[in-house]
Amino acid sequence: METKICTGCQLLLCITSFGGNGLRNGRPRISCRCRGCRSNYAKRRYLANPEKAKARSRRYHQRHLAKCNEIAKAWRKANPDKVKANNRKCSQSDPSRYKRYRQANPDKVRATKRAHRDAAPEKNMLTKMIWDFRRRNEPTPTPEILSLMVLHNLVKRELRKQTKPTK
Ligand SMILES: [Zn+2]
Repeated sequence: METKICTGCQLLLCITSFGGNGLRNGRPRISCRCRGCRSNYAKRRYLANPEKAKARSRRYHQRHLAKCNEIAKAWRKANPDKVKANNRKCSQSDPSRYKRYRQANPDKVRATKRAHRDAAPEKNMLTKMIWDFRRRNEPTPTPEILSLMVLHNLVKRELRKQTKPTK
């Protein structure tokens, strides 16, 4: 077992107690302080000046937007229940939050909706059709019939596109 002395707490610890940060000269770069010491240091630094720490983390987030989004996305995928709970908590504490966002950013909302629609036109069409049947109080056809109807609509739409080229 590989060991190393932490420069913070001076303890001889297993190498797995130290964090790493990428590679240096092809070898893994290992932090000189153990995870516990680094975490304590970060906590002290945060408590010493929370506003500065928040600004620092905002700056980091902006500079590493793609990486942060990736990490957040992976976390959301791994913790769907926590995401749901957080969303519920958020909407309960401020029920009109999304409404305000919608009113303040109509273009963004429209763009998001359009992106969703374009990402899965068949699914969107299917949902709309089912709604229409329900609204008219008609029995919803079987999934097989519905998928045929979607296909039919998609073919119609394609034909329209070909006969009337968009500008
Ligand atoms: Zn230590």
